[in-house]
Amino acid sequence: MIQVTKSPSAPAPLLTRGAKHRQQLETLHERDPDACEKSENTILHSRDGIYNSTSVKDRLRADQHDKCCYCESLFIATSYGDVEHFRPKAGYQQLWEGPLHKPGYYWLAYEWSNLLFSCQRCNQEFKGNYFPLANDAARAKTHHDDIAWEQPLLLHPVFDNPEQHLNFVQDAIGQLDDRGQASIRGYGLDRPELLKSRADHLKGLFYARLVGAFKFDSPLEPREQEFLAELNITIAQGKAIAEDAKQKWRQAAFDNAEYAGMVRANFPHLLHH
Ligand SMILES: [Zn+2]
Repeated sequence: MIQVTKSPSAPAPLLTRGAKHRQQLETLHERDPDACEKSENTILHSRDGIYNSTSVKDRLRADQHDKCCYCESLFIATSYGDVEHFRPKAGYQQLWEGPLHKPGYYWLAYEWSNLLFSCQRCNQEFKGNYFPLANDAARAKTHHDDIAWEQPLLLHPVFDNPEQHLNFVQDAIGQLDDRGQASIRGYGLDRPELLKSRADHLKGLFYARLVGAFKFDSPLEPREQEFLAELNITIAQGKAIAEDAKQKWRQAAFDNAEYAGMVRANFPHLLHH
């Protein structure tokens, strides 16, 4: 995870249809607050056609450089992402696998600052409705309450700097505090296939750093001559490969680079942009 800078203004559908439906949800809640707290109720059902609209998705994806806001995996053509509510809209769990409490943060369903874009694994298989607070008694339970009193344990990719709470030793992730620990569990940041992806990525960077050290300048070193002969490539091709590798290494900690949080923790001297 790294800190993300989101566009300041909300996409239009949130300000028009979203604002209108938020009022309707608040009216529904005023009408019967007790019914909204019942476990099976769907009174405060939000509309995915609004928060999931193309303009919201596209803006989030662009702001997040096409990466999941939690695990930093790049979205590829075959992976779909979810518009994700940091404060869950339909119900919340204070405890991992604990009871689901209703109604959730219905009034934030269309709130730009509450929306992020995440991969389906982080969102659906892990975070879901898990939203623990350090102070559960201060939780905002209706639109009359103020979320400013809450102390969320999960890291927010925009309002927090995850690098201050998470650490990496090579590809192994660890926490620096309680919030880092809750986020590793809540977002599944230590799930096996993610560990493998990060390990492969790190290995690729090691290769890039090594290959990028070759220059293929005249006169060629004996080992450079040997590589060119073995690969059956020209000096120009050798130079292009080495330059490519050098760039890959130089840009590995950029905001748009996959797993930049891991890279930054391991190689603090690399530039961030
Ligand atoms: Zn993810």
